[in-house]
Amino acid sequence: MVLDSLKKGLRNTLKKLVGASIIDEALINEIVRDVQRSLLQSDVNVKLVLQVTNKIKERALNEQPPPGLSRKDHVVKILYEEIAGLLGEEKPLPFKPGKLNTVLMIGIQGSGKTSATAKLARWLSKHGYKVGVIGADTYRPGALEQLKMMCSKINVEVYGEDSKDAVGIVKRGMEHFSNANLDVVIIDTAGRHKEEKSLLEEMQSIYDITEPDLVLLVIDGTIGQQCYSQAEAFHKSVPVGGIIVTKLDGAAKGGGALSAAAATGANIMFISTGERVDDLEQFSPTRFVGRLLGMGDIKALLDMAKQLEIEADEKKLKRIASGKMTIDDFYYQLEQVNKMGSLRNIFEHLPGLSTAVKEEDVDVMEHKMQRWRFIIQSMTKDERANPDLFNASRIRRVARGSGTSEREVKELLTQYKKSKDVMKSVKGRAMHGLLKRFGFGK
Ligand code: GDP
Ligand code: MG
Repeated sequence: MVLDSLKKGLRNTLKKLVGASIIDEALINEIVRDVQRSLLQSDVNVKLVLQVTNKIKERALNEQPPPGLSRKDHVVKILYEEIAGLLGEEKPLPFKPGKLNTVLMIGIQGSGKTSATAKLARWLSKHGYKVGVIGADTYRPGALEQLKMMCSKINVEVYGEDSKDAVGIVKRGMEHFSNANLDVVIIDTAGRHKEEKSLLEEMQSIYDITEPDLVLLVIDGTIGQQCYSQAEAFHKSVPVGGIIVTKLDGAAKGGGALSAAAATGANIMFISTGERVDDLEQFSPTRFVGRLLGMGDIKALLDMAKQLEIEADEKKLKRIASGKMTIDDFYYQLEQVNKMGSLRNIFEHLPGLSTAVKEEDVDVMEHKMQRWRFIIQSMTKDERANPDLFNASRIRRVARGSGTSEREVKELLTQYKKSKDVMKSVKGRAMHGLLKRFGFGK
């Protein structure tokens, strides 16, 4: 697939994260360095890399996971969100039903415009659109033949003329298709060099007479970070609505190309990964990164996280956030984890990683939860509200009452205390952020 080395790097990072027993600052730093290295190796701009990794670090260190979502999964979620963010936002295609939508293809010569025109026609046909194509490249010899050959294979009609009047061709082409009951007309244009003035003027004239619903800029992905300046230059003459990045098959600079294109603010709508007419795919940053990270169904994980946030009891949260966590609150947090089938459930959503987590660990965790529930049930109401009451004799009593050992009771109390300290220490900005997410304060 696209960006194999980035994929490898990021997956190793994830493995490290999933395999870690504690998520502390040292680990976060290591993870952030790993991500940095992976992104730089795939040619992502240094400034962008620093921006995104600083953000990952900041969020991973300061943001509290919603109750019930483990710190680990929360960091996975942050990684996923920030790396996807680097590749831009997602926008649906702007086509409206019941009218003839026009797409203007622009880009420098050799970027893959003509191929992309046929590929897009193919993609749209497969998705239920009726498509026609206009060939308006009057500069390159044989351009029309190339287009006709590719489109004949996919049963898409091409309008073309043996003339040099590109603007006229487009005009007559639009007329030709106006009663053909099509959904989309794609216009392939010439493109010699981005600096060439007459060509830019021609592009503008075509833009003016067609008023396209979508201008697609085709960029050769092998130029890497230069995608940024190229996209900027084109955007100055016509408003670019979306980008197609081509030649990502085996492009070592794919990461640079994608992130640079996204940085211009235009959406990457499609990527092309080969010369065949079927080698075009719609681009979705989240799905793309999900695949890079190897998550079969990251969405399930995210949905689960969301569900937990919704279910969180607001009063409890307020109390926990103010540092007054009771044993009940502590257990409530544990229970939230249990509710989602505990860790096992999450790891099952991460194929390839499920083996990295030992089945035993999950079992031990679930078993422990069960024992802790018994212990808490043996505590008095006062003890639960004020765990400072616990002395040796109370601990002994609870252990006996719950059929557990004193060591286990002590362990629970230690965990509780740790948890409480964590909640206290993250007051200030992080807590502020957490509360805001749950709708408290300003
Ligand atoms: P145009 O001048 O912008 O119209 O570019 P063309 O569509 O004629 O493509 C230029 C060359 O790049 C052709 O040889 C294409 O086969 C090739 N090409 C286009 N897209 C891809 C791609 O995604 N992968 C590969 N490997 N080659 C591509
Ligand atoms: Mg061409």
